[in-house]
Amino acid sequence: MSPNAPRPSRADLLDQVAARYAVAITPAMEALIDAEDPADPIAAQFRPDARELEIAPSESADPIGDEAHSPVKGVVHRYPDRALLKLLHVCPVYCRFCFRREMVGPPNLNRLGDGTLTHEELDAALVYVESRPEIWEVILTGGDPFMISARRAREITLRLGAIPHVKILRWHTRVPAVDPLRVTPDFVAALRTEAATTYVVLHINHARELTREARAAIARIVDAGVPMLSQTVLLKGVNDDPDALEALMRALVEARVKPYYLHHLDKAPGTSHFRCTIEQGQALTRALHERASGLCQPNYVLDIPGGHGKAPLAEPSLRQTNDGYDVRDREGAWRAYPRDNS
Ligand SMILES: *Cc1c(COP(=O)(O)O)cnc(C)c1O
Ligand code: SF4
Repeated sequence: MSPNAPRPSRADLLDQVAARYAVAITPAMEALIDAEDPADPIAAQFRPDARELEIAPSESADPIGDEAHSPVKGVVHRYPDRALLKLLHVCPVYCRFCFRREMVGPPNLNRLGDGTLTHEELDAALVYVESRPEIWEVILTGGDPFMISARRAREITLRLGAIPHVKILRWHTRVPAVDPLRVTPDFVAALRTEAATTYVVLHINHARELTREARAAIARIVDAGVPMLSQTVLLKGVNDDPDALEALMRALVEARVKPYYLHHLDKAPGTSHFRCTIEQGQALTRALHERASGLCQPNYVLDIPGGHGKAPLAEPSLRQTNDGYDVRDREGAWRAYPRDNS
C-alpha cells in the first residue's frame, strides 16, 4: 500500500476476512446475540472481526499437526488406540477461532471442496481402520459430522460397528447447541448400534448456548442411551472469567453432559485476540476447583503443535520434599504427606 492510500474501511476489512475464512451463523445463535452489547460472547464467537487479518508469527495453518498423522484421506491416526475420521468440512456455524479454519468451509470458499468423503474415500478410510486391530475407538469429526443425513450416519455407524475391534464411536459436534432442531429422533437412532458404544462430545463455550431447545436436543441424545461429554475452548472475551466458566460447567452437568476438556486455544491464523495465557487458564482451572463439584471439572489441556498430542496444563498439586511430599489442598495451602512405606 502506498503511504497516501486511504486506510481500508471496516467493511473492506470484513470483506477480506470473509474472502479468506468461512462465515456462517445459525438462526438459533443469531437470536441469542444482544445487539446492545458490543462485547456479546455469542457475537464474538461467530461474527467476523478485522483482527482475524493479524497473523502472529507462531500461528500456523495446521496448528495441531493433523497432516503429519494422516495415513489416508479423512483419517488422522496419532494415538494407537483411536483414530479420527473426518467426514466433511462443513459446519453449521464457523467459529472465528477454529483450529481447522484453513480446512473448513462451504464448497465455494474452500479450495478443498466441501471435503465430504466420496464413497471410494470412505471405503479406503474404513479399510484402513479395519487393517489396524489396535484401533479401539473411532472419533467422527470434520467439519461437523452432525451435518450429514440420518441415512449416511446410519451407514457409517453400521459399517464401523461391523469392524470387530472398534468398540467406541465418538462423535464430536457443535450441532446440539447451535442448531438443535437438526438433532431429530431419526438422527439419534442412526448413531446407535448393538455392536459398539456411542458417545457424543459437544463443543460449547458459553452457558447462553444451552437454550431450552439445546437442552431438549441433548435430552433426545441422552435419553436414547448415548452418554454426552463436552469440550470448551478457553476464549478471551467469551469465557475467560470464573463466573462464566462456572455457569457453563454447572449448566452442562444439569443437562447430563459431563465436562471433558477445556482446551487452551490452538494457534490457528488470526486468532490471537482470543488467546489467554496459560497462567490465566491455570488460575481459572484452580478457581473452578475451589468453587464447584467434581462433576463440573474439565481437564485443561493443550494440543502440542506439530502433532505431538494433548498435554494436561493444570498446575501440579504434588511436590517432593526431603521426607515425602507436599500436596496442595483446594484452598491452595500445601499439606505434608509422608513418603509411602515410611
Ligand atoms: C484430540 C485427539 C484425539 C482424542 O484424544 P482424547 O484425549 O482421547 O480425547 C484423537 N486423535 C487426535 C488426532 C486428536 O487430536
Ligand atoms: S464447529 Fe468446530 S470445526 Fe466447525 S468452525 Fe467451529 S471449531 Fe471449527
